[in-house]
Amino acid sequence: MIKLDLQRFAVPFRRTSKTKKRMRRTHLKKEVGAIATCPKCGATLRPHRACVKCGNYKNKEVIKTAEEK
Ligand SMILES: [Zn+2]
Repeated sequence: MIKLDLQRFAVPFRRTSKTKKRMRRTHLKKEVGAIATCPKCGATLRPHRACVKCGNYKNKEVIKTAEEK
């Protein structure tokens, strides 16, 4: 068995307070992905992709949608 010499390890002097913990974690957040808006209908969509609602990409209709029929 390995004998642990506790004097060799850095041990926290104090317990981290709730506030300090929360302040540290303010930087830990989920990133919001890139969002673009459709120039025709104004719907939010992923960049470099055709609009799901009106089927337009770069002001040209590329997909036939059910609404237009
Ligand atoms: Zn659109």
